[in-house]
Amino acid sequence: MPADASKARMVHCPQCNAAIRWSTDNPYRPFCSERCKLIDLGQWATGSYRIPQEEPDTGQTDNEEQ
Ligand SMILES: [Zn+2]
Repeated sequence: MPADASKARMVHCPQCNAAIRWSTDNPYRPFCSERCKLIDLGQWATGSYRIPQEEPDTGQTDNEEQ
């Protein structure tokens, strides 16, 4: 792999789809900015990427005490 990075590679930010230059100088790659990176991490943290669990609506209250 050549160390010469004069020919920059263009990528699209996965978050906002903005065209950015892939550079080792960019700590937020593959995102365009810290903002987009944090948004993506935030989605993971809040579980937006998780498969939603099905909760059957029984219409009943929890009353299993005896
Ligand atoms: Zn972005």
